[in-house]
Amino acid sequence: MDSLFVIQNSIFLFQPSDSGTIDDIIVQHISRKGLEVLNFIDTELAIGRKVHVKLNWKCRFDNMQQHSGQHLITALADSMFGFKTTSWWLGVKVSHIELDTLEISKEQMKSLEVAVNQKIKEARPVNVKIYNSFAAPALAEVRARSLPKDHTGPVRVICIDGIDENMCCGTHVNNLSQLQVIKLLKVEKSKKNKVNLFYIAGDRVINYLDQCYESEKALTSVFNGPPEKHAEFAEKYVKSLKVAQKVKTALLRDIATLEVKNYKSQDAKSPLFILHRKEGDGDFMNSIVREMEKEHVTIFITCGDDNETGLFLLTGKEDVISNLGPRVAKILDGKGAGKKGRFQGLPHLPRSISTSVTRNPELQDSPDARRSSVDMTKPSKTTGAQH
Ligand SMILES: [Zn+2]
Repeated sequence: MDSLFVIQNSIFLFQPSDSGTIDDIIVQHISRKGLEVLNFIDTELAIGRKVHVKLNWKCRFDNMQQHSGQHLITALADSMFGFKTTSWWLGVKVSHIELDTLEISKEQMKSLEVAVNQKIKEARPVNVKIYNSFAAPALAEVRARSLPKDHTGPVRVICIDGIDENMCCGTHVNNLSQLQVIKLLKVEKSKKNKVNLFYIAGDRVINYLDQCYESEKALTSVFNGPPEKHAEFAEKYVKSLKVAQKVKTALLRDIATLEVKNYKSQDAKSPLFILHRKEGDGDFMNSIVREMEKEHVTIFITCGDDNETGLFLLTGKEDVISNLGPRVAKILDGKGAGKKGRFQGLPHLPRSISTSVTRNPELQDSPDARRSSVDMTKPSKTTGAQH
């Protein structure tokens, strides 16, 4: 195959295709037809034209590190513990190897990590051997995978000096020292009583360490404490937050009860009950509606912060709400939906809710709104306070 770009073939090579350009035209897709590699571009090139092909080397080298890392881990997982590799995947951030075992203990994982990094320190050479055909006797000793059905001709074997020989057509480093380091991250159960071993190799380890350090710095600032205490602090804060949320819910329910009680105590009740509560939520709005069940008035409740998306709820007579709901949503520059006398939605600018509704002549035409003489922009004994 005469091509600078290596292609992905999910049958026997689990690494992404190369990327690059031909005369500065981006190669959109790469595929294989027999022994030919096809590069797809969106501009026609004249036959016979000499072109400048540019490979994305950063991406290629990353593929080489992750792929060669897989060869090394696979070989040592087999020789140390008898765990056979059944497949692997080169991921965008993290890669994994599927091993035919029910589990891997922490001790086994640590020993494997130490061993692979020892081989990297030893800077073992990685060579390529080419055999004329798959029938070559020497290939009997090689850990092989199946070939594509349409394969003919030479077979390529990747040899890690003194460690492994494996038939493969991917891209690899030529010395283990180019892997720099391998970090085994975690083991997860896979299908068919197997496990996936996740790892990163080479520059990905450095990049990952960079991210971890930046995250650690940010958390140190947030928690005002050393990294070894972060998990403890986070656990404490999450617990406190849950308690605070429970208290908030209980307090909001009490406020809902008091608001309704206040409304009900009025001698001349407005047919339109309006309330805005910045800290409110769906539960708060439902509490109000439940407590107002027997009042048979139009209810308009809004929640949310000044500059964030909030919530609104309209309830009342079915014909009134089905008419009023979409108009309120439009005025608030928001979205909403509802049925059976209940319409709820998300206003875009909660701060302007009451002002918009009160001052909008269209809504003032609604029968219930017309009967209300309340200024919705101000706290009111008859309508409930704004917060
Ligand atoms: Zn390979």
